[in-house]
Amino acid sequence: QTGPGNPYRVVLLGASGVGKTAFASIFAGAADIQSDFTYEKCFISDEVCEKTVEVDGEPATITLLDTWDAETDTDCQSSQQCNMQTGDAYLLLYSITDRPSFLRASELRITLRQFRPVHHTPIILVGNKCDLVRRREVSVSEGRACAAVFDCKFIETSAAMQHNVWEAFHGIVRQLRLRRDSK
Ligand code: GDP
Repeated sequence: QTGPGNPYRVVLLGASGVGKTAFASIFAGAADIQSDFTYEKCFISDEVCEKTVEVDGEPATITLLDTWDAETDTDCQSSQQCNMQTGDAYLLLYSITDRPSFLRASELRITLRQFRPVHHTPIILVGNKCDLVRRREVSVSEGRACAAVFDCKFIETSAAMQHNVWEAFHGIVRQLRLRRDSK
């Protein structure tokens, strides 16, 4: 059961610059344009935001954790590792305009497998910045193939256009519910 006392911990992972902060501010800020449900702004701290969203007519409370990339900021390695251990679900972001960030997502997926050996941890591979069509370095089919290898879902998003960002959050809630219901 999830509720105010038992929120889902969703962790944002990915290289620096892929759009994690942009994702977190969409989550924290504006109303969900996908449904008429309006949420209150709710910040616990700069990196943690908790709020209740409505998915398929049922409320779900999400605690969203943003992490820095350990590669670019060594001080934060422990925060990222901690989040890897405690998350219920993960949004693994890369930028479609930045191939190294796509490779970084693969590395993070492998690290995640060490921390979360349990098979059914919901993970969505997110190819962000799909509005930047002319700067694309990673094709849709590469993203999809990578997700298939990783045994996770795949979505392309544009935080700048607010395109598919809520679909990603809703998708993670649906996966968490499927897992809950199959227990
Ligand atoms: P983070 O380091 O992963 O937190 O990345 P940020 O959220 O800070 O984003 C890095 C830069 O990319 C910022 O200048 C954002 O405005 C920009 N950005 C993030 N998402 C998108 C997107 O979907 N499209 C475009 N065009 N720019 C984006």
